[in-house]
Amino acid sequence: MSLIVQKFGGSSVRDAARLKNVARIVADTYEAGNDVVVVVSAQGDTTDNLIAMASEVAAKPSRREMDVLMSTGEQISAALLTMTLNEMGFPAKSLTGWQAGFLTDSNHRSARIRRISKERLENELGKKNIAVVTGFQGINRYDDITTLGRGGSDTSAVALAAALGAARCQIFTDVDGVYTADPRLVKTARKLSEITYDEMLELATLGAQVLHNRSVEMAKRYNVEIEVLSSLERKPGTIVKEVVKVEKMMITGVAKDDKVARIALVGLPDKPGVAFKVFSLLASRRVNVDIILQSIGRDNTKDITFTVADSDKQIAIDALTELSPSLGIKEIVADDMISKVSIVGAGMESNPGVAAKMFEALFDANINIHMISTSEIKISVLIDKELGSKAVTAIHNAFEV
Ligand code: ADP
Ligand code: ASP
Ligand code: MG
Repeated sequence: MSLIVQKFGGSSVRDAARLKNVARIVADTYEAGNDVVVVVSAQGDTTDNLIAMASEVAAKPSRREMDVLMSTGEQISAALLTMTLNEMGFPAKSLTGWQAGFLTDSNHRSARIRRISKERLENELGKKNIAVVTGFQGINRYDDITTLGRGGSDTSAVALAAALGAARCQIFTDVDGVYTADPRLVKTARKLSEITYDEMLELATLGAQVLHNRSVEMAKRYNVEIEVLSSLERKPGTIVKEVVKVEKMMITGVAKDDKVARIALVGLPDKPGVAFKVFSLLASRRVNVDIILQSIGRDNTKDITFTVADSDKQIAIDALTELSPSLGIKEIVADDMISKVSIVGAGMESNPGVAAKMFEALFDANINIHMISTSEIKISVLIDKELGSKAVTAIHNAFEV
């Protein structure tokens, strides 16, 4: 007998038929003699709809209230799945984030899990109940509801698997594994049987939404193997783990992120301390900066261009507008009609010419590159948004991954 954590995403619990399908998978796992902890996301587009409802009543709703609102989606799924299981004759109980012991920091809408108090869950499992836990949520030390960031139910599942020492952590979704590119975008994308934590973390961070990047970070830290698989077809998925058997290819995958904004600060004084002032201010507003480019100084001025998540664009502009008079920024230009397209692969380190091959593929497709950034196992380029999908396909074809 072992403990298995199974997470089901929004499309997997979309309606009554899908809930019954999920209940069958859970029931089979339970009937095979396992303890089962289930983590569910909100049904279908529920979270998007809740966010839209908030924007109808408030221009800038507080982050605390957004968390109270958004966490309701998962509560619906957990109750409905539990009822479905009960109806089938299985002992199941739903638990909200706080009932399941998720203690997080107070960074509303993007909270980090600090600790999981396991008592209640262990108690339910001891009574042979299937525990159906709401993903994506917890409480902070003031007992306020928090959420873990979009896509965060994956992280809830991995955190539970780590805390409970689960034998397996299965992430069921609407594709049958992790592919070399989004299979909805690139028809020739190939399913990977295994992928390393490091490569999966890069892909997830660079826009492959199949796993929440923090779930991969956590899986690596606590050595939890994740299996990504389909909730609709019963077949093996992709294992995410430390070391993989498959031979190293030049690149492992291609990812695209459309939720990026580029901000250019034009005509900054070309003197020490300017970059420090700009980026420490952004850090103090919790804005994560990604690619940074600084121009060569001219007439004692320089330009700094950088990218942020498009959800942070306005916060960044507001902060920099405040700073503008004291720092002497001539102009702030923001643009979110861009896409970041990246290639990821540990094989890159030992293969010179990977970057050239990527740039050649873009050249052949007549796609202009605005910015470039590289690390040991990834290369990212910024391009016009409408060319994003074309770029992913062109690059994927060039590498024949
Ligand atoms: P869930 O609701 O189950 O959490 P998500 O929509 O968050 O599912 O993630 C699954 C989606 O991720 C797939 O439908 C697919 O379009 C997308 N995706 C992006 N990149 C990849 C990739 N490399 N491999 C598999 N799926 C990917
Ligand atoms: N329901 C949340 C979202 O849509 C969390 C999740 O699905 O993982 O982002
Ligand atoms: Mg998801």
